[in-house]
Amino acid sequence: DMPAKNTPTRSIKRSNVDSKWSDTTPYTTKKKLQSWFQLPDGNWELATILQTSGNESLISLADEKVLKVNMESLVPSNPDILDGVDDLMQLSYLNEPSVLYNLQYRYNQDMIYTKAGPVLVAVNPFKKVSLYGDDYIDAYKCKSMASPHVYAITDAAMREMIRDEVNQSIIISGESGAGKTETAKIAMQYLAALGGGSGIEYEILKTNPILEAFGNAKTLRNDNSSRFGKLIEIHFSETGKISGASIQTFVQSSAGERSYHIFYQLCAGAPPLLREKLNLRNADEFKYLSQSNCFTVSGVDDAEQFRVVTEALNIVHVAKESQDSVFAMLAAVLWLGNVSFTVIDSENHVEPVVDEGLVNVATLIECNIEELKLALSTRKMRVGNDTIVQKLTLPQAIDTRDALAKSIYSCLFDWLVERINKSLAVGKIRTGRSISILDIYGFESFERNSFEQFCINYANERLQQHFNRHLFKLEQEEYIQDGIDWTKVDFEDNQDCLNLFEKKPLGLQSLLDEESTFPNGTDLSFANKLKQHLNSNPCFRGERGKAFTVSHFAGEVTYDTTGFLEKNRDLLHLDSIQLLSSCTCPLPQAFASTMLTQSEKPVVGALYKSGGANSQKLSVTTKFKGQLFQLMKRLENTTPHFIRCIKPNNTQSPGSYSQELVLQQLRCCGVLEVVRISRSGFPTRMTHQKFAKRYGFLLLDHVASQDPLSVSVAILHQFNILPEMYQVGYTKLFFRTGQIGVLEDTRNRT
Ligand code: ATP
Ligand code: MG
Repeated sequence: DMPAKNTPTRSIKRSNVDSKWSDTTPYTTKKKLQSWFQLPDGNWELATILQTSGNESLISLADEKVLKVNMESLVPSNPDILDGVDDLMQLSYLNEPSVLYNLQYRYNQDMIYTKAGPVLVAVNPFKKVSLYGDDYIDAYKCKSMASPHVYAITDAAMREMIRDEVNQSIIISGESGAGKTETAKIAMQYLAALGGGSGIEYEILKTNPILEAFGNAKTLRNDNSSRFGKLIEIHFSETGKISGASIQTFVQSSAGERSYHIFYQLCAGAPPLLREKLNLRNADEFKYLSQSNCFTVSGVDDAEQFRVVTEALNIVHVAKESQDSVFAMLAAVLWLGNVSFTVIDSENHVEPVVDEGLVNVATLIECNIEELKLALSTRKMRVGNDTIVQKLTLPQAIDTRDALAKSIYSCLFDWLVERINKSLAVGKIRTGRSISILDIYGFESFERNSFEQFCINYANERLQQHFNRHLFKLEQEEYIQDGIDWTKVDFEDNQDCLNLFEKKPLGLQSLLDEESTFPNGTDLSFANKLKQHLNSNPCFRGERGKAFTVSHFAGEVTYDTTGFLEKNRDLLHLDSIQLLSSCTCPLPQAFASTMLTQSEKPVVGALYKSGGANSQKLSVTTKFKGQLFQLMKRLENTTPHFIRCIKPNNTQSPGSYSQELVLQQLRCCGVLEVVRISRSGFPTRMTHQKFAKRYGFLLLDHVASQDPLSVSVAILHQFNILPEMYQVGYTKLFFRTGQIGVLEDTRNRT
């Protein structure tokens, strides 16, 4: 049976305590017939207030159950007229259940887009919705449609680019599976339709299947999860036509449940000649692919996708021979995984087995088989002026093999992006006008968080700062423009958390880089150093053992430092690089020289030498930070448009909407923050005319002047709306949250 007292689940309860985000004033509740009541499962349900006495209310729920509850557990709901408003700012009562209900109300009618002030919220439908295509594009283009949509926000970006002659950006965020990549594609489609003509737009659209094949993998959370971040900058000519594009990608995180799509596509779809040339087998015969025992993605035909990808490669002008080299590298990676070792002495030293795996690798990358064997089983060390050769143990040899495979793949990915960029830059006229679309991994907080989450969450912290600064600025500009009395509101800055990461020499990243350079550094010594130096920082907390907690804008995350040093070093031994440079095939040669220039370039950041003959290399953290700074610099010079994608369920299924899950994301990705910011301002705006027309009939006394402003002011007085609750602008009335609700209720009862 339902307990009379409200016992919400843990995560939702926080919101009730959180005063900045609840509108629960008994005063408003008393006057209302309907309110939100939270069920023990955490979900909110609409309750009808039957009676109120003292601090208690008698309510009835949808199933006609009648309960006696504490009045404070009731949260005001909005008048029916506000059901499914297309901007959350229009809600009179701004509280979590009302926001959740509004999004759900729309979601149930396939209205997956809603504005949260300046931000577009997109709830993933997990099914085809008829909201796209030429007819819709035309409707948004000629403004016959105005409901929130990716098209609308992209259209605004396009217009502002032309009107203000300022570059624009569309920043898409949200957690894995929320729909960022799909949203980015929808925005690209709109731009292609508006700015197309030269044909380059087809090439730009075709980069999607290529990047997805090489950069996406099936994970537990998303069948098509991007394992990299991407910024695509689309350039326009004076006349608003697309003239070129460039793509920047960010540090790849490891693949998921299945490896990158392209491997399965190649195995399933390579035509007979190519199969023979590369000695291809079925996916289940390659160790790297069979480990996870997940070979297919439901609803996806890998062989067919292979044809889509090769066709796309043709369109972006990757020549047939280059394509064959790319596929040869993929096959080499697969065969590397099948290389095995035999132990040759009592010290566990090994030699690679000379079987078809090893032979195929040598053939595919075109190297000497003896050199391949040495690179996989020995390491040259410099001792003083001498070079000694050390034999590798089994675990060392396996690590070396896997590191080589990983490096080949990541170099291949970067090489491909470069090739595509060259193709898209053809005929590019530099006009300084562009729209950039950012599709980057969102904030992550799991049961166990590692180095990948550390990097991803740092990036999100930077983006959040960008988001905050921008939204505060925009909001406050409108008040000033309409001439209202406005004292600037300070916003909750996340600078402290960013300092925790970036400060030199005592920040998380510096300390990590430092520890990574020590030959004797371990994950534990790193964790201890953090506790020693950072414990006084309010955003940091040392945990037992090897863990530490960071207080991010989106919540606390506890990181387990296991593997941090190793992942940050990301060492590829010089022996492996030398092997690649000895290949006669041009691709591995090119990879080797990239790796070498990358490590030998004089850099200001942390460089480190570890264990003699290892290559000097930028740490992963430093490289990532550098990329991020570059990204932020580019974004700073643009007018941003924000899209927050929301995943309504964890099962990738249509029609299912979990309030708790949605709420977590609204909080995490900062939508709640935007709404809170708006609340401290005057989120409800109505022109004098509209206000007078809507509520004028409620006036009890005759008003001498019939001009809209006089009528409006008379209404405000009659309803005793306190002066601090509204502002009269040149063209509009500005209200604080909840004010219009009282007028609406009266209007409805009259
Ligand atoms: P990740 O961070 O893992 O890359 P993501 O946010 O990029 O995740 P997507 O790959 O864009 O997520 O979306 C996941 C899936 O959700 C898609 O494969 C698609 O099935 C579905 N989806 C997303 N957006 C839409 C949409 N607008 N219409 C229909 N289906 C969608
Ligand atoms: Mg994605």
